[in-house]
Amino acid sequence: MSPHRSTGDVLAELSRRRATDAPTHGGHVLSYVYDSGLAELDELAGHAAALVQPVNGLDPTVFGSVATMERDLITFSRNAFHDPEAVGSVTSGGTESCILAVKAARDRAALPPGRGAIVLPSTAHAAFDKAARLLGVRAIRVPVDPVTTQVSASSMAAAIDDEVFLLIASAPNYPTGAIDPIAALGALALERGLPLHVDACLGGFALAWWPEPLPAWDFRVPGVTSISADLHKYGYAPKGASVILHADRDRHRAGFFATTDWPGYPIVNPTLLGSRSAAGLAAAWAITEYLGPDGYADLVGKVADSEARLRAAVSRIDGLRVIGAPAGPVFAVVADQSAAAPIDPHRWAEAVAAQGFTLQAQPRYTQSDGTVLPASTHFTVTPVTAAVIDQLIEALRTGAEAARGLPPAAAPEALAALAGAFADGSVTVDDVLGLPSEAVEQALSGAGIDPHTDPSGAAAALDLPSIIAAIETLPRPVTARMLTEFLAAYANP
Ligand SMILES: *Cc1c(COP(=O)(O)O)cnc(C)c1O
Repeated sequence: MSPHRSTGDVLAELSRRRATDAPTHGGHVLSYVYDSGLAELDELAGHAAALVQPVNGLDPTVFGSVATMERDLITFSRNAFHDPEAVGSVTSGGTESCILAVKAARDRAALPPGRGAIVLPSTAHAAFDKAARLLGVRAIRVPVDPVTTQVSASSMAAAIDDEVFLLIASAPNYPTGAIDPIAALGALALERGLPLHVDACLGGFALAWWPEPLPAWDFRVPGVTSISADLHKYGYAPKGASVILHADRDRHRAGFFATTDWPGYPIVNPTLLGSRSAAGLAAAWAITEYLGPDGYADLVGKVADSEARLRAAVSRIDGLRVIGAPAGPVFAVVADQSAAAPIDPHRWAEAVAAQGFTLQAQPRYTQSDGTVLPASTHFTVTPVTAAVIDQLIEALRTGAEAARGLPPAAAPEALAALAGAFADGSVTVDDVLGLPSEAVEQALSGAGIDPHTDPSGAAAALDLPSIIAAIETLPRPVTARMLTEFLAAYANP
């Protein structure tokens, strides 16, 4: 056949497009990417993925390599999380692992259709809200202590009603890096006869080898029935690999979907997908085989060292502080309201970005009891952070000097006006949720948030502090609707 374009031409174009992406290596982006700093891992993962490229992970009885690699990863993970008997599945990522944890618990509980609820701290990952919506169950978010950012067992207990079939906690949570009191929650779970899922998607594979003592958080805690952990975060695998582990075989099996009740092939899916790539599995398998537990321990040592240095550097900046008591590789920085001149964390992140480091902004969040988790800047510390740490600390200091005294950004004028309309009751949330997509897109463009500004694919030129300010000002379902429109328009032709 005569090709439409030459392979060289196609790949050259892809390289040009990749060049517009944020740097995935080198430690300049402190979220999204988990860089081991070991170039050979990328090469190994790439070869492993290529070897299984034609395989369909749907049927391990036909493609035996899939079953054996999965077996090895479950063994590796259950040893790391201290239950030599645990069973589980490899999934495509943390969201899928979290959905399966909820699905398995719901199906075990055998509730009538339309019933059921999960109880989780306000800091637990939004993947559980997604799970609850998909599965038609209620998510009851429990306020955390705004100082420690941990949930208490007594407030979780108070939220349990007769539809609750699962308790959830994080080790650590994403927004502040704190580990919930897993031992107390395990005791609560046992007392109430409920399962307890520990979401270790973010940091499980870092906590397992953390050099300083940590409160118990894994299967050693009585009452913990399942754990999710992402191989594509601190497992250093390319995106597309996570594990869901269950202490109990029957709970694991309840996550499956199986049917012979159609005219086609017998179906059994341990995860959400049908046909599935084995690339993520093979890449993660290759990396765990190459590093082994000692390799992970080495890398985690570097993470812990950088994390301590960064936190110390932040504590020396007048006007900023680390929120709560994070334990592990992640923390967040907020304005220090006790300082003479508190620094707005989003203005700070903007100023640090000008120094070449990308920090993630997290909006202020009001919990259901009215207490507030302040606006913050998120840090995911990875092994490669060590390679740039002096430069990064200097950028944090310089950025703080530039941001000191700046007021927090205001929402774009049009969105501030919209917030006013909600406040005086002239517009309701339902009015906005009922708008057609064109109208929402117009509202975004009117606010200067144009999803079409850069057809080349170069990183969007967004005024992030003002967008975060809009999220803080508008009703959250409205901003979710706007985000949907923005991303759809951004990626669609
Ligand atoms: C990242 C994360 C998830 C979701 O994982 P994805 O891989 O992004 O789907 C769930 N929980 C926590 C705590 C996370 O950090």
